[in-house]
Amino acid sequence: MFIPQKVVFEEKALGFSLGQELFNNFKKQGIQIEVNKTGRVNGPKDDAVKKFFDGKRTLVVGVKGNAKFQSCKPSAHYQLPLVSGCMGMCEYCYLNTQLGKRPYVKIYVDIDNILNKAFEYASERLPYVTIFEGSATSDPIPVERYTHGLSKAIEAFGSNDHTAFRFVSKYSDVEPFIGLNHNNHTTIRFSINSQEIIKRYEHGTDSADKRIEAAKKVKVDGYDIGFLIAPIFIYEGWKNDYSKLLDKVKAEFQGEKITFEIITHRFTERAKNNILTIYKDSTLPMNEEERKFKYGQFGYGKYIYKDDDMREVKEFFAERINKDFGENSILYIV
Ligand code: SF4
Repeated sequence: MFIPQKVVFEEKALGFSLGQELFNNFKKQGIQIEVNKTGRVNGPKDDAVKKFFDGKRTLVVGVKGNAKFQSCKPSAHYQLPLVSGCMGMCEYCYLNTQLGKRPYVKIYVDIDNILNKAFEYASERLPYVTIFEGSATSDPIPVERYTHGLSKAIEAFGSNDHTAFRFVSKYSDVEPFIGLNHNNHTTIRFSINSQEIIKRYEHGTDSADKRIEAAKKVKVDGYDIGFLIAPIFIYEGWKNDYSKLLDKVKAEFQGEKITFEIITHRFTERAKNNILTIYKDSTLPMNEEERKFKYGQFGYGKYIYKDDDMREVKEFFAERINKDFGENSILYIV
């Protein structure tokens, strides 16, 4: 659970019962509170490192209002904007590109309004099922106990034949989801990595063992589950390390229906600059010469592994996972 050092309330959020409740709770706990018109976070202007780490310990409580939903291709139709940002500090985090300048965690208190809007989008797509993604710009689990937003979404989308929900996390606090009426409309995925990569580059996340244990709990509760193995790094001993990780998953889930999404490491120029500003001594492999440049769908290019490396990764994971979990368990390897 995210325990912030400072909470900034957008004035309007206090007009919602959840906003009031959070205000009173944080006040009781003696956490520093600020209220302003827009929920703006005032940090040090000229110290990017301090701004980043202060931001990571800041929670903003806001109102989503009428803002449009973003699309979320190819894994879902729309992003469900319940939370943005994450308390974790993974050096390779994709949010470093998207939210590098706004590292704080933001939660919205008008959850009913957000869900109503989701159903409006879903009704436009009838008779097809509309899938919403709850973690496109966040890791939402660490703030779930404040908002219960994921739980509400799980039950709401579970109650409608034409909606489905999915989210992914590196955290393990899944107790709030146990016993909900999910109706098999929600897939909970866990992002895992080799022990070595977690040790080197992930800070403030739960261990892979805890995430696998959490996956087990929600699986027992009837949820569809999946694992994202991401980002995959090629380093000395990578095959051995990822083998050990897959062995752990196999020990818990062999023969069960689970899915895998395999994503190799990639970086953009902008992310690299942000990362090296914040983590000056980062050993993340971001040498452009060792990578292949590829134009992305959002207009900026990224550095991915070269073709031979990519092939080796694909072969390794396809062989291991197909053997242990069946031919259809890999959704994609990129
Ligand atoms: Fe980013 Fe996920 Fe790590 Fe949070 S847990 S910092 S969202 S990679």
